[in-house]
Amino acid sequence: MNHDSLLQRITAKRDEVVALTQDLIRIPTVNPPGDAYEACARLLGERLKKRGFAVEYLRAVGAPGDRDSHPRVNVVARYEGQGAGECVHFNSHIDVVEAGPGWTTEPFGGQVKDGKVYGRGSCDMKGGLAASVIACEAILEEGLPFPGALEISGTVDEESGGFSGVGYLAERGYFSRPRVHHVIIPEPLGVDRICLGHRGVWWSEVETSGRIAHGSMPFLGDSAINHMSAFIHLLETELQPRLAGRRTSEPVEPPGARVSTLNINSIHGGQVEQHFSTDAMGRPSGDLPAPVVAHSCRAVLDRRFIAEESLDSVKAEIIAMLDELQRTRPGFQYGIKDIMSFVPTATPRDAPVVLATAQAIARVLGREPSYISSPGTYDQKHIVRTGKLNACIAYGPGILDLAHQPDEYVGIAELVDSAKIMALAALKLTRGG
Ligand SMILES: [Zn+2]
Repeated sequence: MNHDSLLQRITAKRDEVVALTQDLIRIPTVNPPGDAYEACARLLGERLKKRGFAVEYLRAVGAPGDRDSHPRVNVVARYEGQGAGECVHFNSHIDVVEAGPGWTTEPFGGQVKDGKVYGRGSCDMKGGLAASVIACEAILEEGLPFPGALEISGTVDEESGGFSGVGYLAERGYFSRPRVHHVIIPEPLGVDRICLGHRGVWWSEVETSGRIAHGSMPFLGDSAINHMSAFIHLLETELQPRLAGRRTSEPVEPPGARVSTLNINSIHGGQVEQHFSTDAMGRPSGDLPAPVVAHSCRAVLDRRFIAEESLDSVKAEIIAMLDELQRTRPGFQYGIKDIMSFVPTATPRDAPVVLATAQAIARVLGREPSYISSPGTYDQKHIVRTGKLNACIAYGPGILDLAHQPDEYVGIAELVDSAKIMALAALKLTRGG
């Protein structure tokens, strides 16, 4: 089948995909704290129910962030095909980051201008979600027979790790065989790029300790901040240069991220954080610091690693530096704890989900796709680790660099093209690719 009629139908749905993107943007699902998740899940679920999907709402009770004021409500919709085949699942996160300053359009207004839809979440990733919905609806409206099943989910908290979203569903079998065979995550990687996976991540917290004393006689104490500073000096002068020389063969984009990296996410030492100011007379106002030597200093490290490294070696490298300081620096004592880790993922280039999407890109756009890997993790990590499904890609409309920025937008032509590509890929994959 050449599916010309399906593609024409999607071309004619230009206004519809724009309207759905706007409707989704207008529900401000800001995370943190996780606002309006249920309203957004219901918008999606009610629409798909009308089209014949079986719809489930799954609140992640007891999972991180879930509380009555901000329930973590996910929606999963499934449409059974005719007979035995495979299930293609489109997964989108419905949460967005805060708008932040610098907008020239209304962040939650969904304004259309110059062929683009503007708003927080337009590209990351409500536009991709809308495109996947239009793709599946067009298949159904065409009356095209397919085996297996089509699934669409709207999940929460991707921006904060996805533990109450895809992580929660993966633990319950929603991203495993035999229920699901192929997963496409319409993150904004670009209409002609297929993202195969991501680098690994290890978050940890290092704490140095010292001895409290009067700040006017610091020689009687031992500053935890000075100890942390010695550690950070080593990170900057020894570890970071070493990491910059460690290159991966994975096609990570942007190319600057084709090495291992370390970011010091935050640091805090001494007294509880305060904001000091003076009044109109120049006198100090509010609480003043009391003079003490810091007995504790904590830093959160965000270490991103490449497929050629193991999580164990990544941890051991930092612990070895801390041990070295303990041996050589008088009074240096430390503790370290894991916050979170995920190993790198890479779906094989010859996986059916990759091949079917590549073929659809060639058909719709008339060019071959490029294959990339992401510097940061996204919900694929849960699908691979917990769902044990190594048949997942990120593919969707939008320019990744615009994500989380003011005046975020998604191009309308890209919305339509990506919906066509998703529809062609899905039809093929229900037959096993
Ligand atoms: Zn995203």
